[in-house]
Amino acid sequence: MYEITQIIDFLNPIQSHVVNPSSSIDSLAYDSRKLHAGQRGLFFALKGQQDGHKYVADAYRKGVRNFVLSDLNFNISAYTEANFIWVKDTVRALQHVAAMHRSHIHIPVVGITGSNGKTIVKEWLAQLLKADRKVYQSPKSYNSQIGVPISLWHMSNDYDIALIEAGISTVGEMTHLEQIIQPTWGIFTSFGTAHQEGFTSTTVKFEEKWQLFRQVEKIIAPSTHIPENVLGDERIIRWGTQDTAKLRIKNIEQLADSYHVQGCYQGILYSWKVPFTDKGSLENCLTCMLVLLELGYSMEVISERILLLRPLDMRLKLKKGKHNSSIIDDSYSNDLASLNIALDFLNQQNQFKYKKLVLSDFEGEEWTPRFEHKLQNLLMRIDLEELLLVGERFRDFTLSTDAKIQVFESTAALLASYNSLDFSDSVVLIKGARKYHLEELSKRLTQQSHETVMQINLKAIENNLRQYRSKLEPSTKLMAMVKAFSYGSGSFEIANILQFNNVDYLTVAFVDEGSELRRAGVKLPIMVLSPHESTFEDIILYNIEPEIYSIKILKAFIHFLKGKELSAYPIHIKLDTGMHRLGFCESEIDLLLDTLENQSQVKIQSVFSHLVGAGDTHFSSFTQEQIHLYQNMVHRIKSTIGYDFIRHICNTSGIVHHPEAHLDMVRLGIGLYGYDANSGMDLEEISVLKTTITQIKRLPQDETIGYDRKGVLQRDSVIATVKIGYADGYSRRFGNGVGKMLINGKQAPTIGNICMDMCMLDITGIEAQEGDEVVVFPDLLEAAHQIGTIPYELLTGISSRVKRIYYYE
Ligand SMILES: *Cc1c(COP(=O)(O)O)cnc(C)c1O
Repeated sequence: MYEITQIIDFLNPIQSHVVNPSSSIDSLAYDSRKLHAGQRGLFFALKGQQDGHKYVADAYRKGVRNFVLSDLNFNISAYTEANFIWVKDTVRALQHVAAMHRSHIHIPVVGITGSNGKTIVKEWLAQLLKADRKVYQSPKSYNSQIGVPISLWHMSNDYDIALIEAGISTVGEMTHLEQIIQPTWGIFTSFGTAHQEGFTSTTVKFEEKWQLFRQVEKIIAPSTHIPENVLGDERIIRWGTQDTAKLRIKNIEQLADSYHVQGCYQGILYSWKVPFTDKGSLENCLTCMLVLLELGYSMEVISERILLLRPLDMRLKLKKGKHNSSIIDDSYSNDLASLNIALDFLNQQNQFKYKKLVLSDFEGEEWTPRFEHKLQNLLMRIDLEELLLVGERFRDFTLSTDAKIQVFESTAALLASYNSLDFSDSVVLIKGARKYHLEELSKRLTQQSHETVMQINLKAIENNLRQYRSKLEPSTKLMAMVKAFSYGSGSFEIANILQFNNVDYLTVAFVDEGSELRRAGVKLPIMVLSPHESTFEDIILYNIEPEIYSIKILKAFIHFLKGKELSAYPIHIKLDTGMHRLGFCESEIDLLLDTLENQSQVKIQSVFSHLVGAGDTHFSSFTQEQIHLYQNMVHRIKSTIGYDFIRHICNTSGIVHHPEAHLDMVRLGIGLYGYDANSGMDLEEISVLKTTITQIKRLPQDETIGYDRKGVLQRDSVIATVKIGYADGYSRRFGNGVGKMLINGKQAPTIGNICMDMCMLDITGIEAQEGDEVVVFPDLLEAAHQIGTIPYELLTGISSRVKRIYYYE
């Protein structure tokens, strides 16, 4: 641990304010939402999309007493117990502090970069080495300008080797990462055209990545990914088919379930099996093998360990569990850094009363007092109801906590006690090292359903939110539309992530949707779009704010509130400026104001309207008229009411095309979910609907497929049946070749009519097997267009019986 004075000496700041010079630092932090009581972190106020100085108060409240700021005018008078350091650039300061820590470490540090395969190579190497070495690795894909310094912080001389991943998006970044990581060896996994945006040419991109290896002794790489002009670098150790490759590949044979490889290393010919069938995995495997050879492992040991490698699904998954529970499955690896990330994610989940953790022992990790102390600190941060520990070494582990603790010597022992365990009303994090196979527990806890699933990427939501926020003034509020089951993608799962990212409001269509969010612990203000009188009880009970769209509903609500003796209840006035759906027209404003003036039961929280064609230039002048009319009506309301309220009119396309109308708040809908056709933004589609092939048939010409003999075979064909039908939301209009699904990278048209629970695809000429994965909408916009609808309808039409699986990667 470092003391703050050491950090100050090292950073050489512009200015500092020290009240407690012996204050010690146990972690680096920049996100106040992820802080936990008792953490003695050093908080860096970073300036990105949001200004980190805004979160100093929150961090201080949570106990942080050491801060690094860049804003010299920041008023620190309220923080009497804290030390402050001012620097020019807080990101660089964070990096410098990590670099300082790194320079105290004397173990070999392997820096890994490349266009693809960085994370896989890092994870596989860790798996291969952990049988006999203590391996420190950067978690998941913490490979950025901020991720790398954070991920290095827990590295220590207790380990035998460290594996650190570095990723860049533009010129100049690798030099910074190199100075932090200070690698002794390098691995270059591959070079391709992915993530090209930040670079003027491929040469520039290559040279930038290569900066990581400025000081290394050895660089391990595949021959084919190294440009000619660099090959002369004597530090490069390659595998490939050329004579000059140190691991020289003589022959590769593809078998049904693996590759059989022959190759030469130091004059000896070997042959071995690689347990994968795709080229990317083969390449990554050979890179890992060469690293192990260079570390002195024998080919015998290596070829045995290679067989145990599995494709990695490294994503943290959130699934619906049995008995009213959510299961977070993260059972492919376990180390302190990735446990930390998973615990953060557990902490964000408020949908059930209890939080429980199933934790396996750590592979390749010695239980030093320091390690044990760190583990205790991590576990104490979270309010756990129950802790199930798997592994012998937990027998002597103590933790002062209120959680109920049980220790099992193995996963088998845990599963044997399965019937006596209770996971109901809980969010359960299952976190385990690969060899413990805790996914077996996750399988038993999650609900089985037919094999059609919708995968939802929660990180993509964060990305899309960030994109839209960057279009807003910092003071403009953001309301996120989560109506219709969040446009088909989930309820509290989405709301939790939005709440964590500090959106200002959520909007649902019906009171039931809002009450479900409240029961799942969502605290944000919630507006409901079309409340009915019969739901007023629930509106009050769940603290939901109604949209008021007519005099009738306004009077009814006021009357209801009177009966409850409530006053100043927040409401949202909807104005009709051209949509002609719900809302007060201009001619009704006087009556509205009369009704409002003589009462104290409701208070206007916001006044809003809705644009009918904000994304379409044909309607530019109509949109302007709507905005103008809205402004006039707002003016009348305001001058009579005499107090301030929030004004908003922009939906997703309004945000992009009418920045002049952002007003006090915007309402973000479809864009959050990744569909905003002509926004020119870098959005990610958050969901993928997938199914699997149930059966494959080879049928001769002239046979017919499905009901009413609609699908007539024009040639001998191969037909696949997949488990999705119109009851799942795959419209009958997609039948007879209109819809196309993606199988192993190829498009396959539907054939015949769509059935209720299934449909058939013509896969003639496509290599596929029963059980293969099928992407239902390879291009959602195109699919919507084909049946004359819009993405909104396709997304919200996907039936609730289709299981949703959430990823946070
Ligand atoms: C659904 C809805 C939105 C969001 O629209 P998008 O086009 O999805 O951004 C905004 N405001 C109101 C009133 C809505 O009903």
